[in-house]
Amino acid sequence: MVAVFAVGIINGVTQLRMGTTFWGGFTPFLVCAYLVDGLLVDTGNYKSRQEFCEACDNRVGQVVITHHHEDHSGTGYHFAKRGVPVLAHPIGIPLLGGAKACPLYRQLFWGKPPAFSAQPAPESLDTEHYSFKLLRTPGHSPDHLCVYLEKEGWLLCPLP
Ligand SMILES: [Zn+2]
Repeated sequence: MVAVFAVGIINGVTQLRMGTTFWGGFTPFLVCAYLVDGLLVDTGNYKSRQEFCEACDNRVGQVVITHHHEDHSGTGYHFAKRGVPVLAHPIGIPLLGGAKACPLYRQLFWGKPPAFSAQPAPESLDTEHYSFKLLRTPGHSPDHLCVYLEKEGWLLCPLP
């Protein structure tokens, strides 16, 4: 298995894409994170941690984790350890990182991230240039959030 990683820019928003290839290059799951105006939306998977942190580390002022699944919170420990505010829905906070939140088959795809703590996400969040709304969108997981900026028409909801 080989971790894949790519960075792109869409309307001024940095998109970080990552996944794991195997069986001759087949990539069954890809996941994205977004960085805009110092706000990192999701932290990718643990297997991509080196590329992920190199691509965005010095531009991150705060982090929102959309849900606790390890493909979206896999490098959250890195930012929390550095003192960067990491925010998540209270339901998901106890599930961030560690083996209890990461079944074996998902460890195979995404790695096994260390546990870390986050702060409860507020309903809105300001960056230098924007004021984002954090929308509660349970369904995929009970703690799921989306990051919305009406002014630009952006809805950052990095599924799956
Ligand atoms: Zn998920």
